[in-house]
Amino acid sequence: MVYERMNDEPAFVGIPTFLRLPSLSSPEELARERPDAVIVGAPFDSAVTYRPGARFGPGAIRAASYLRRGIYHLGLGVQPLKVLKVFDYGDASVIPGDIERSHAAIRAKVAEVAAVGAIPIVLGGDHSVTYPSASAVAEAVGRGQLGMVHFDAHADTAPDSWGVLLSHGTPMRRLIESGAVQGSAFVQVGLRGYWPPPSVMEWMREQGMRWHPMDEIERRGFDAVLEDALAEALDGPEAVYLSVDIDVLDPAFAPGTGTPEPGGLSARELLRAVRRIVGEVRLAGLDVVEVSPPYDPAGITAEVAHRVVLEALSALAAARSQGTP
Ligand code: MN
Ligand code: MN
Repeated sequence: MVYERMNDEPAFVGIPTFLRLPSLSSPEELARERPDAVIVGAPFDSAVTYRPGARFGPGAIRAASYLRRGIYHLGLGVQPLKVLKVFDYGDASVIPGDIERSHAAIRAKVAEVAAVGAIPIVLGGDHSVTYPSASAVAEAVGRGQLGMVHFDAHADTAPDSWGVLLSHGTPMRRLIESGAVQGSAFVQVGLRGYWPPPSVMEWMREQGMRWHPMDEIERRGFDAVLEDALAEALDGPEAVYLSVDIDVLDPAFAPGTGTPEPGGLSARELLRAVRRIVGEVRLAGLDVVEVSPPYDPAGITAEVAHRVVLEALSALAAARSQGTP
């Protein structure tokens, strides 16, 4: 009875793992449990160029939500946590101010998850964490054999940020330069605003990268754009890493972020897109980054980031229930 109650407690009661999921703390436990997906926190924000605070993102995302583990997705008709084995693996042991050692810790922790065949779900942290995280997943899937769907207001493909190579403005450049992900399988959705400059876009074109800015989404409609984006990410690879910078949302839906850019997606559009992508591709990794709780007075940014994870888990559960993908 006590045990039952523990499994069904509201997410705000007790030790705050993601959705009160059971926690794991070692590679041995991972190997024993053979999970489908594993939550990993990357509470690091020393690579931001503007407003800090994303180091508090994993904590806020875990603490968000009034939901319980028995969640039922109304649209998909599935109870994701009855279909999937999901655990919370805690946070990577990052070191404030030390980007290289923090990235190494994130990469190692994500690699441990990928090594047992589970899907790492990484809670950022600033967007620099995608470089170690997606590198670890690419290593597991096969270097150059991972497609990338990247939701963001920004391309994050700068050569450097004022001379700094590991910044939240550069991770996608590092992923392509290192050979972890091929430019031709790298797709960006939601770009807008006033960055990057033409020289960076020229580099992106040379890599064979594809991108779908907000004005194209407005003109053609989101479904048509998503159709193309999925085909492009699977141009070669069979598995996809999905990286969601929460600033792809309009700041009306996600004010709590480091580099807000007006004119973005609605929460409804993003959640539906995540559902569709995860339902149609083989997901190898997911991250949700750039949630900055100090700028999130009503907590809605943490809530929507939390739901991005739930949409992905629900779509995965629905697909597995039907035998795909
Ligand atoms: Mn970003
Ligand atoms: Mn961004």
